[in-house]
Amino acid sequence: MAIDAKAKVFAVIGDPVEHSLSPAMHNAAFSHLGIDAVYVALHVTPANLAAAIAGFKAAGIAGLNVTIPHKLAVIPLVDGLDGSAKSVGAVNTIINRDGLLVGYNTDVYGFRRGLERLVGSTKGMRVVILGAGGASRAVVQAFDWSNELAVLNRSVANAQKIAGLAKTAKATALALDGQNIQESLKTADLLVNATPLGLHGENPVPDGLLRKDLAVFDLAYEKGKATALVGAARRIGAKAADGKELLLYQGVKAFELFTGEPAPVEVMRRAIEE
Ligand code: NDP
Repeated sequence: MAIDAKAKVFAVIGDPVEHSLSPAMHNAAFSHLGIDAVYVALHVTPANLAAAIAGFKAAGIAGLNVTIPHKLAVIPLVDGLDGSAKSVGAVNTIINRDGLLVGYNTDVYGFRRGLERLVGSTKGMRVVILGAGGASRAVVQAFDWSNELAVLNRSVANAQKIAGLAKTAKATALALDGQNIQESLKTADLLVNATPLGLHGENPVPDGLLRKDLAVFDLAYEKGKATALVGAARRIGAKAADGKELLLYQGVKAFELFTGEPAPVEVMRRAIEE
């Protein structure tokens, strides 16, 4: 449909942001539903974040997605936080509600939906999480008292922070090294990679440590192909998903907040894949 003067404007802001698949995904959904709206990617540096948010508010932008490195820095710049953002301590979606900017977090929903599709129920699963940054904060929220979690990270202090956010008492923090990866994977049911290792073809897990009955969710993704970790898991017959699943379902939830309408999930999935 044609974009006219009444079109609502949405954007994803990040640094860098040029690689983002969110414009393709949201514009495909607007077009499919005949919604008069447009979604663009805007490069906003940390130094310009406060001015950009004030400008968006002044210009009446309808909604935003927020990506690396702004998910925490944007918190003091919005007028209020939804419970989803409060519980994770990070904002990835902002809605303009009659001139007030409200921060949400749809990453937890996105990760949960992706996990459900991958493994069904996660009750009682033993989970290994690699990485302890912003994405890991959303990942731990998806598990409960029945889960055993091992958080492995380059900085053990950050691993301890993430383990401390878990809803289960059975959460441990370890250094990210070959020995700890090997030991913790021996009894694990699910491996989540929340480090950037995998964005450029490298596999954070040494050869021979994956098993057919170890499901893998790699938050990293590469355009048009599986990550090295997902490829290795699938080759031995294990269930595996990459970060496009999280991208899709966080986007589905954001779209529903943006428009108040059910998202056309398969249209959005095709836009990401193509
Ligand atoms: P952060 O920068 O907040 O955290 C990065 C984490 O990875 C930290 O734990 C850091 O360790 C660790 N790390 C960074 N570089 C290395 C390295 N060279 N070797 C080992 N560990 C390393 O990023 P996020 O948590 O926001 O994102 C992590 C990754 O998750 C992203 O790069 C992206 O691939 C993916 N992601 C995907 C999304 C999606 O929609 N699919 C959404 C969000 C994230 P330390 O604490 O020691 O610094």
